[in-house]
Amino acid sequence: MTSRSQHFLICQVCHKSKPQRELLPGHLVREELLPLICEKAPDWSSSGYICYACLNQIRTNYIRHQMRKDLGELDDLEQEVVASLENKALLSENIDEEYDQTLSFGECVADKVAEFGGSWRFIISFSTLLVVWIILNTVSILLNPFDPYPYILLNLVLSLLAAFQALQAEMLSDMQKKG
Ligand SMILES: [Zn+2]
Repeated sequence: MTSRSQHFLICQVCHKSKPQRELLPGHLVREELLPLICEKAPDWSSSGYICYACLNQIRTNYIRHQMRKDLGELDDLEQEVVASLENKALLSENIDEEYDQTLSFGECVADKVAEFGGSWRFIISFSTLLVVWIILNTVSILLNPFDPYPYILLNLVLSLLAAFQALQAEMLSDMQKKG
């Protein structure tokens, strides 16, 4: 019943431990921001993480710096930051989307399946299915039960499900190693 959002990671800039959803992987940080990040965190690595609070602060510094340097044309990032500052919107919102977009289709499916497989909704609906299955095959309401006692087909389904969940757990831990 674990969820990816419960993992804590260290921000390389403020060195605080924060939930994963509050952090952006270093390789997704825009190159323009790297000099400013390295000023604050000399040991910055793109395989580490930065929290959105630090990132937003650095982006604000960046835009201030750029505007001071050149009040001419604004590039995309500057316009985005200025617009966000004006709207007081969270810059992290669209960064989150960017992060989601970097997950492959398979990883997204594994995420969704794992989320459902570990939920109470799944456990309750699955238990209900088991009870219904056993009742249907036990009570002699049906003249020809499709899986009579000792429920050989049910055993097969359970074995497959266990194998599938083991595979899924392996995929999840692989993804976490990569992430
Ligand atoms: Zn931080």
